Amino acid sequence: MDSEAKKIQGDAGDKPVVADPKWDWHPDVPLVNSPIFIWPPRPLVSLKSLASNWIELTGRVVFLVAAILSWLLLTRTVENVGSFNAGELGWIAHIYIRNMLLLIVMAGAIHLYFFRYSRQGKELQFDARPLVKKGRMFTFSNQVHDNVFWSLTSGVFFWTFWEVVLLGAQANGLAPLLAFGDSVAGSIWFVAMFVLIPLWYSFFFYWVHRALHWPPLYKRVHALHHRNINLGPWSGMAMHPVEHLIYLGSVLIHFVVPSSPLHVIFHLQFNVLISIFSHSGFESLLIDGKKRIGMGYFFHQLHHRYFECNYGTDEMPWDKWFGTFHDGTADATAMVKERRRQMYTAKPGQ
Ligand SMILES: [Zn+2]
Ligand SMILES: [Zn+2]
Repeated sequence: MDSEAKKIQGDAGDKPVVADPKWDWHPDVPLVNSPIFIWPPRPLVSLKSLASNWIELTGRVVFLVAAILSWLLLTRTVENVGSFNAGELGWIAHIYIRNMLLLIVMAGAIHLYFFRYSRQGKELQFDARPLVKKGRMFTFSNQVHDNVFWSLTSGVFFWTFWEVVLLGAQANGLAPLLAFGDSVAGSIWFVAMFVLIPLWYSFFFYWVHRALHWPPLYKRVHALHHRNINLGPWSGMAMHPVEHLIYLGSVLIHFVVPSSPLHVIFHLQFNVLISIFSHSGFESLLIDGKKRIGMGYFFHQLHHRYFECNYGTDEMPWDKWFGTFHDGTADATAMVKERRRQMYTAKPGQ
């Protein structure tokens, strides 16, 4: 998190801050939330923080470029987008194949760079233990094979499913459409949506993820994602089909909020690609020793190590408000361990 956020939110007081020791590398702790939602409100600080995601080469910029290219490719090469008539379904095959290729290229390239060819060694890697090659908890007893399997089967299926539902609804007048240039206010909203979609994601993800940690859902559904204690890019979309359905369902907002097909494509690609980046296990991608792009997300890496903390993202302070924020310190680890002890003893057998 940037130093501005730390300045605004203050430090932990006079007590010395001790980092949780179980990491090979970690950012400065204590982690602090993004200043987007600070109280009392400071609009300029919030806007600056929001803008910082777009004026440098960040994941968001890459995702937006990918979405624009996908949109142009779809609308310029495929006819009858949104039609469900037999014989006019080529657009669905196009989306399915594009999603499959996009996932293979993005997750595959990041995996090869960090893990297969170890291009930056262990530099900026949170947990330098190798990914699990023999573990019975994983499908095919291999973490990477397990993760690739769930991502490319159920992951691509539900990603495509939601994209087809939403683009079909927009084309058939069942979801409100918005076009750039229709009006000044509409054009401003068109652009603002690219900033707001990640915030909606942060809100939706927190609540859905909390629900997934409800023991009956956790055991049957979310435990599949949590097989991954240590992470690689393919872990991001390694989810149970029910979790794919729910997680990617955040796109249903476009049935209510006027949007364009580009927003839908961006929204879904954001959901998928942010999880590839955030689970990559490395804080940044280095080329020639220089940080080129932020990748991994220590906030969520802590969730995979300690489970009952950091359910959301640092863009919204839900975890802080509900007392589940792990800020990367040894004190926070002790807090989460105590919380887990109370949860498990209060509900025997869970
Ligand atoms: Zn995760
Ligand atoms: Zn979880």
